[in-house]
Amino acid sequence: MDGRTPAAGDTMPALRWHGPRDLRLDTVAVPEPGPGTVLVAVERVGLCGTDLEEYTDGPVQIPAAAAHPLSDRRAPVVLGHEVVGRVAACPGGELRTGARVVPDVVVGCGRCWWCGRHQPGLCPTGAVRGLQDDGGLAHYMAADAARAVEVPEHVPADAAGFAEPLSVAVRALRKAGDLSGACVAVLGAGTIGLLTAAVAAARGAGRVLAVDPVATRRRLAEGFGAAAAPPDGAADLVGDASCGRGADVVVECSGTPPAAAQAPLLARRGGTVVLVGTPPPGTGIAVREVVAREQRVLGSVAHIWDEDTAAAVALLSRGTIDPSPLLSAVVRLEDAVHGGFERLLRDRDALKVLVAPGPAEAPGGAPVPAAPSPRP
Ligand SMILES: [Zn+2]
Ligand SMILES: [Zn+2]
Repeated sequence: MDGRTPAAGDTMPALRWHGPRDLRLDTVAVPEPGPGTVLVAVERVGLCGTDLEEYTDGPVQIPAAAAHPLSDRRAPVVLGHEVVGRVAACPGGELRTGARVVPDVVVGCGRCWWCGRHQPGLCPTGAVRGLQDDGGLAHYMAADAARAVEVPEHVPADAAGFAEPLSVAVRALRKAGDLSGACVAVLGAGTIGLLTAAVAAARGAGRVLAVDPVATRRRLAEGFGAAAAPPDGAADLVGDASCGRGADVVVECSGTPPAAAQAPLLARRGGTVVLVGTPPPGTGIAVREVVAREQRVLGSVAHIWDEDTAAAVALLSRGTIDPSPLLSAVVRLEDAVHGGFERLLRDRDALKVLVAPGPAEAPGGAPVPAAPSPRP
């Protein structure tokens, strides 16, 4: 990634999933952008629980046995779906070369009932770049030019690297409706949960509560204006904040069966539960209580580029949400396995590791550390 436009036949390093615990830094061809596509020189890629799940227990979403029907790709694939970078080439001219963009990773078939209603995330044959097609853990990544969201120059790359998970939080709370004055309880204060707490506060929630067993995460939630408690204190926390009624909105972000089960019980009668975390198959909730209490229970998955990603970029651009307290480390592509995947498995206090695939600079001009760095 040396600033010039790559030529046909150029190669690049890319971190590809070959199997569980088998990520390899392979040399692959730089994608050749055709009409309607953009070639992005990748600046930052966030690693998240979805990547970790593929690393430890995959293939979960990665097509391994047969090619994916839309992308026509199967393993090995380049991981990385939380991407920001600069336009290196855009044959159709939709984007200016050098512009910083968040490439869209949720790709629908464009022909089905859901795609016809602008719901590409629900497309039965949809493909996510970084899982079912090549993603951003490489020097370059191809994406659709018309669906990339431009990021203003004043937003640092380390902040823009949070646009994708922030868009997940934006979408989850969009489903809950008007939040002004509401009591919003977030279960699970990982990256998505903390960003959800921050978005709830930004959208005018009267009380924001966060529940997590890890003390450092509760402290981070408090930094975003939330009151926090461990799971065994959740009922008291919610009761005290809602005059005993229960939360107006509960957002389940932990993906753990106990939290999913607890979510409707923490919501008030007539309240809303948004399920964002993905617990193991077969996880149940208290249906009888949901019926008797006339609660709305909704699922929310990923994001849509123009509804959610654009809103997330606007929140970062205006400085409404500063995700920097969540950043545990920035590592080079060569160190992504050790300093990223392995560290996130080992270190409960680590939240977001961003990978800087190119020869980029860390904040402050210091070289990106080759080894894991402590939380700033
Ligand atoms: Zn993710
Ligand atoms: Zn479709």
